[in-house]
Amino acid sequence: MAQFIDTVPLSGIIRIRDMMYSVKDPFRLDQGDVSFDAPDTVKDAMRRAIDENRSHYVQTTGVPRLLELVAEKLRQTNGIPIGTPDEILMTTGGIHALYILCHGLLEPGDEVIVPDPEWPPAMGNIKLARGVVVPCPLHERLGWRFDLDELESKITPKTRAIYINSPNNPTGGVLTRADIERIAAIADAHDVWIISDEAYEDVLFDGAQHVSPASLPGMYDRTMSFYTFSKTYAMTGLRLGYVAVKDAALRDRMKKVLFYTASNISSVVQYGGIGALEGSQACIETFRTELQARRDLFYEGIERHAGQILSGAPPKGAFYAFLRIEPSWRPEGEQAGDSVSWAMAQDLITRGRIGCVPGADFGANGEGYIRFCFARDRRELTGALESLSSLRIGLPSS
Ligand code: PMP
Repeated sequence: MAQFIDTVPLSGIIRIRDMMYSVKDPFRLDQGDVSFDAPDTVKDAMRRAIDENRSHYVQTTGVPRLLELVAEKLRQTNGIPIGTPDEILMTTGGIHALYILCHGLLEPGDEVIVPDPEWPPAMGNIKLARGVVVPCPLHERLGWRFDLDELESKITPKTRAIYINSPNNPTGGVLTRADIERIAAIADAHDVWIISDEAYEDVLFDGAQHVSPASLPGMYDRTMSFYTFSKTYAMTGLRLGYVAVKDAALRDRMKKVLFYTASNISSVVQYGGIGALEGSQACIETFRTELQARRDLFYEGIERHAGQILSGAPPKGAFYAFLRIEPSWRPEGEQAGDSVSWAMAQDLITRGRIGCVPGADFGANGEGYIRFCFARDRRELTGALESLSSLRIGLPSS
């Protein structure tokens, strides 16, 4: 059996998901899924594709019309100087883009500098490709951004890439243009790649701006940028993502991995993607405005019901509350064990039916924090807050 796979940790998100299935009437604030539905433009396009029998094999890298639309979006919206649609590969969600690009780029033992905390599949996919994860802290005091001198100090002769994810899951931190410029300069000076996860490019609050590193002069040459339809168009279950890479030799390696893992990705879903990009983009702003309102509702509720125990500044992007747990907190009548964040997650799930993810799951620097997704509908958020209030965490038991 492939013992190597045993060295790749299983994300705690899966463990939590399994726990949540045994909870009756749960509040699913654990998973990063939006409560919105995909726009009609997507559903109509998929229905049409089914009726027109578009159920056969298609091109490995993607349906030509979709590749054209994605190339145009990357040029217009992200400012990336895409040459031809050949530079795009369509994938089964962003997570598959990550798998393909790690396998195309990394030699065994290559180091990748990764934010800590970070979405666990980043670490998992680097390890699956036999790379080495080098964590670099995101600092809460800096709005969950890097100390860039510290980032540069992590570079070694084995560094192959710097992984960035802005807006970040789980912290909601957004890198500034100056941050991205400095990271680009570091990548250039040390001749390393940038892997840029832009899954939350459209989920920004309080006027924060998204900057794609590949849009900076010369940086498209050394940046692999990947995206998903999951968050922008509420298409999480449909599984549609893409990656843009200029280097043809690297792309050919990725194309091979794409072919061997998917042949081509779902034709019908790709037509849904065409519907999304050809149709009105109004849903992006509608979702964003509603998410900002939910963020504010959730943070107000946390402050009111558990402010002595859970705290943190509202994020500038993505849709997670990543909250610091007051260090003296202990589960009622129990020890916290090794991990206070796991103890709290277990307590909130078993006593309060509130799904959440322990910060420790996102890296060593995430211990002591807990993540809630506020992209759930207002009723579910309010229910979770009422349940939290009834737990009276942090208040002396009466
Ligand atoms: N990057 C980040 C940071 C994410 O949180 C996610 C989804 N949770 C993705 C990429 C990929 O999403 P998907 O596979 O649904 O496209």
